[in-house]
Parts: sequence; C-alpha cells; structure tokens
Amino acid sequence: MEDCIFCKIVRGEIPSTVVYENDDVLAFEDINPMAPVHVVVIPKKHIATLMDVKGDEMGTMGSIVSAVQEVAKIKGIDEKGFRMVVNCNEEGGQLVFHLHIHVLGGKRLRDELD
Ligand code: 5GP
Ligand code: ZN
Repeated sequence: MEDCIFCKIVRGEIPSTVVYENDDVLAFEDINPMAPVHVVVIPKKHIATLMDVKGDEMGTMGSIVSAVQEVAKIKGIDEKGFRMVVNCNEEGGQLVFHLHIHVLGGKRLRDELD
C-alpha cells in the first residue's frame, strides 16, 4: 500500500523506534503515547482493519499475540500488567487503516473508554 503510514514504517520510509521485529510483525513506539508504555504492534502485511482478517491471516494474529508477549517482557510490564487494544473503524476510533494493536501500560490504567 503506497500511501499507508504503517506500510511506510515497515519499508523504513518513515523512521520509527522499533521495540521488536520478526518476519511477520513489527512493534514500535507510538509517536503520541497515551501511557508510559505505548507500543504499536502491526502485521508487516497490509491488512486494513480487524474485520479484514481472514483465512491465513488468522495465523498472523497468533504471531501478533506472541509479539505482544515479547513486547510486554521487553518493556517489563508482563508481570505488572498491561492492556491490549484494537480500534476498529470509525466509532472504534481507528485513525490509521493498517491493523494495529496498542500495548498500553506502565501505570494503573483507568476503566474509562474515552
Ligand atoms: P488508531 O487511533 O488508528 O488506533 O491509532 C493510531 C496510532 O498510531 C495513534 O496512537 C498514533 O499516535 C500512532 N501513529 C500515527 N502515526 C504515527 C507515526 O508516524 N509513527 C508512530 N510511531 N506512530 C504513529
Ligand atoms: Zn499498510
């Protein structure tokens, strides 16, 4: 996807601070952190939203969960706890239409959704 911000990050055309990477998944620091730890985990392949995950891509979701575990360990929040969030489509608050998982932690998170 030529104009997708996260595809550009995967290709190295936009710089990012990489936290973890494997063949299928890239995890990098969010540019506008909402918590002391805020890492974005993405499939390297362009998938627009959670609703577009199908077929073989279901396996990629397993890789993403595994990557989230690695990120939590790297950031030292695996024991203390963290939150994994996917925003899907407009009312879910999705702004970047390349599937991504937010990993949020490093403080006691409140229960508010807004
Ligand atoms: P969404 O609202 O789509 O779930 O979240 C998109 C996230 O991507 C936001 O938290 C935003 O700060 C982050 N983001 C947007 N553009 C960039 C960028 O160029 N670099 C990085 N590292 N994060 C970005
Ligand atoms: Zn993309």
